[in-house]
Amino acid sequence: MIGLSFGDVLPAKDAQNNALLRAFIAAKYRLSDYTTRQVYGKGKERYYRNSMTAIVEEGSVVQIWGTCQDITDQQQTAEALLYNKERLDLALRGSHMGLWEWNVLTNQLFWSPQLKKMYGLKQNKRVTYEDYLAMLPADDRARTQKLIAKSLKTGQPYTMEHRVIWPDGTEHWILGQGKAYKESGQIVRMVGTALSIDRQKNIETTLQRQNAYLETLHITALDVSLGLKKHTHVLKTILERAGKINGTHDGYIYLKDPQTQKLVVRVGTGLFKEYVGHTINFGEGLAGRVWETGQPLTVPDYETWDKRQSSFPKGLVRTVIGMPLRTDEGVIGVMTLAHRYVNNDFDSEQMAALSRLADLASVSLRNARVLEDVKESEQRFRTMADTAPVMIWLSGADRQVTYCNKSWLEFTGQAAAGKCSAEWTGNVHPDDVAKYQKTYETAFDSQQSFSVEYRLRRHDGEYRWILDVGRPRFSPEGKFVGYIGSGTDIHDLKRASELILANSQLKNQRRQLIALNKAKDDFVALASHQLRTPATAVKQYISLLINDYAGPVTPDQLQYLQIAYNSNERQLKIINDLLKTAQLDSSRFALDMEPHDIARIITAAVDELEITVELKNQRIVLRDISSETIEIDETEMKLVLVNLLENASKYSYPHSEIVVTMQKQDGFLEIAIRDKGVGISRENKQRIFDKFTRIDNDLSDTVSGSGLGLYWVKRIVAMHGGNIKVNSALSKGSTFTIRLPL
Ligand code: ADP
Repeated sequence: MIGLSFGDVLPAKDAQNNALLRAFIAAKYRLSDYTTRQVYGKGKERYYRNSMTAIVEEGSVVQIWGTCQDITDQQQTAEALLYNKERLDLALRGSHMGLWEWNVLTNQLFWSPQLKKMYGLKQNKRVTYEDYLAMLPADDRARTQKLIAKSLKTGQPYTMEHRVIWPDGTEHWILGQGKAYKESGQIVRMVGTALSIDRQKNIETTLQRQNAYLETLHITALDVSLGLKKHTHVLKTILERAGKINGTHDGYIYLKDPQTQKLVVRVGTGLFKEYVGHTINFGEGLAGRVWETGQPLTVPDYETWDKRQSSFPKGLVRTVIGMPLRTDEGVIGVMTLAHRYVNNDFDSEQMAALSRLADLASVSLRNARVLEDVKESEQRFRTMADTAPVMIWLSGADRQVTYCNKSWLEFTGQAAAGKCSAEWTGNVHPDDVAKYQKTYETAFDSQQSFSVEYRLRRHDGEYRWILDVGRPRFSPEGKFVGYIGSGTDIHDLKRASELILANSQLKNQRRQLIALNKAKDDFVALASHQLRTPATAVKQYISLLINDYAGPVTPDQLQYLQIAYNSNERQLKIINDLLKTAQLDSSRFALDMEPHDIARIITAAVDELEITVELKNQRIVLRDISSETIEIDETEMKLVLVNLLENASKYSYPHSEIVVTMQKQDGFLEIAIRDKGVGISRENKQRIFDKFTRIDNDLSDTVSGSGLGLYWVKRIVAMHGGNIKVNSALSKGSTFTIRLPL
């Protein structure tokens, strides 16, 4: 600069130079450490520190001297520092960041005001390292201590998110960073920052909650729809998820016990695990109140709540929320979540999510019950179906058979396989397949009941007739869901019904015959009555003629009259026989039972036939006939004996002997009449007791008869509760034995 003029050194066009000079004058020509800045071409700048002194004589500067020091480097550092400090302050203020410094050697801790605010502390509060740790929840505290210890050892910086419990019990989130610094090789202090991340955490937890909520919905819906898990399991999942949404592990679900009408803890997590089985009354404590009101209830601090249950230990839970579990039947339980510190952090969205979860729990409970009911009734159906003696099958709407009961499987021989084969038409008789399939298809198309008979192959290969009856099944909503049907083996029945048909035809014929027979009996009775009166009149008039009441008759006339009389006699006998038969056949006929000595009746019958027997030179021998009193109808029994003795005489040759014996046998009195007559062939033995049956034999031409006698005998004996049997051989004679109950 030597040789340059003052104006060259400090050009007046530079405002800075003028400023310098003005400052120099203002400082009364004693300026020190005045900084100037020079910009050179290309934007390069330099800083100078100027000190100047002048000699002034009579108001004019005559000489200036001074120093100029290039301070560019120093100036830039200072400026940078200032800039950084301002920026840091700005950043700290803007970001709500707190600062701390900890002298490890003296254990002195410095907290910035912002940091104290972040921990809910008053500004004048002094904080020690121990105070700091005490404010962290236990698990976060352990984590923090570990990280700090590591950093102290290695000098590595650390970053962590942790919670802080404020003195008022509320919970807050902090992002903390720290680093240890060494001096002469030794860690002497740690410096760190803290950032409140409540907002981020809130967003994060909301997201997590929503995820958890969706996940719970999903899992629960799956659990419930699959029905794989017990409802306590589903409830536990819901409780855990609800806890996650709400930020706690401690919760329980009370369910109403229908028997005791109390709430019983069915599921418990965290603190409440051991409370399973605990009961509470209506209106009692938190759950009891939720039950009473049917509304959610939040207790901000259970510790100081005046309705708290005194039996519950103190110092465990603070904020508690109870949610009712509701179905159409009302409140069926209460879900409760508890926090170990005061938590005011419930927004409406979170409460809504919790209430939806509670609803879900209720739904899953109801579904679980429905499912259990369904399972139970299905089990009941299967047990019933399997024990039923009919074959039961079920088919779906797709026409596929889905179930066959035990009887069906045993019939077709699929019991070993345990289920019916899809293609079971294979067992239907080839001739019946078309009919069977048509019925089945038509029924499915119209969703109507059906009934079809077809032959089905049994396990042993035999085709049996089956009656298959199907009924359409509909869901409660009225949707067609398939058929339920029963197959009955009607093979034997079908056979039997054929027999029954034949039988009923026979019965019909028999009924007709009986009717005819009755008509004939009625006719006979009527006719006999009508015949007897005129026949008896004829007899009387012939008697009058024979006895000359109409004047004397010639021998010829007498002979003719005698023939007429005899014919009339026979006619009357036949009429009387017919009348007797009609009387016995009549439903109104009754025996006149009295105690009588049978020996006396036998003798009377023998006496009556004395002349007849004598005429044929025959003899009636009574053997072992003793006095025996039994209940009988005397007249009818005598008729029986007379008839038997008369037959014995009629169908025996003269000079023969008829033997009557009597004996007691097995509570019966047996009377036997034995002759040595013509006998009866084996084939005729039964017929002789039928009405109007006369069997030709060697003597039948010589004797008269109507073929009614033995009919009466059999009938009268039967009416006495006895029976008659005949022992006979042709030409050897016959023995008729009647048995009468004693
Ligand atoms: P009837 O003697 O009027 O013909 P019954 O009813 O008394 O009618 O007898 C039926 C038939 O049984 C007789 O026609 C006869 O052929 C046979 N019968 C009855 N009793 C005897 C007997 N004691 N010995 C052989 N045949 C007999």
